[in-house]
Amino acid sequence: MIRVCKPPTPTNLGEAGVARTQKDCAAYAANPMDYLSGTRKFIFEPTIYGHNSVKDTLRTVQHGKCCFCEGRFEAFAAADVEHYRPKGAVQQDKNSSRLIPGYYWLAYSWDNLYWCCQVCNRNNKKNYFPLANPRRRARSHTDDIANERPLILNPGGQEDPCCHIKFRDEIAVGSTKAGRKTIEIVGLNRVTLVEERLTRLKELRRLLEIVEIFTRNPDRGSRQLLKDARSELTAAVQPAAVFSAMATDFLHGTEPIQAKAP
Ligand SMILES: [Zn+2]
Repeated sequence: MIRVCKPPTPTNLGEAGVARTQKDCAAYAANPMDYLSGTRKFIFEPTIYGHNSVKDTLRTVQHGKCCFCEGRFEAFAAADVEHYRPKGAVQQDKNSSRLIPGYYWLAYSWDNLYWCCQVCNRNNKKNYFPLANPRRRARSHTDDIANERPLILNPGGQEDPCCHIKFRDEIAVGSTKAGRKTIEIVGLNRVTLVEERLTRLKELRRLLEIVEIFTRNPDRGSRQLLKDARSELTAAVQPAAVFSAMATDFLHGTEPIQAKAP
């Protein structure tokens, strides 16, 4: 998981999303008990939050990768526009009851939207949104989400996810409570994902070996091979690279690889 830096709100989401949010908030304010009891439900409009301009922008700023697992979308069946704070219903954890409505007033909020693989979103995160203190949870648009301390990391938040999640080889390890909870809720150590990261790790190890062998025993024939391997290792830690957070932790301390480049 790496930090997502978002550009300004896409025009379509800004205009249609604001209008729809105002309508939903007015409907809730008129009959809050109906929504809290489930008698009435919000009907969310995917053509607004999932508009092509939203998808395309998210896909671009996230370098074609899932906001949580950093897997490329091509590697998965499909992807969703994910609501960081769940829009329809919310759950603290598996043992807690499901609260309705969810964060309906953030259904079309640019800050709340990410591009996410369906395995992270539908199979794992679902409606979970744990807080350090669930009693401080915002339950309507009149509450302030700034009072919440989420235990699931916000890909576009102020804090860099790498301060909370480190990689021990291909395994994600939480260094904070939010890091550990994010790994658990999103399933960052699920078997298929760990296997994919291990495959990537083996590629990085092979590149490192090439650099080490040919740096010790340089010959004219190996010059291009060495240059390519260094170049691939440099690219591996860039935000556009698959599993770049793992690559960064694995290659940490190997800066001389770049410095020695011919
Ligand atoms: Zn994912």
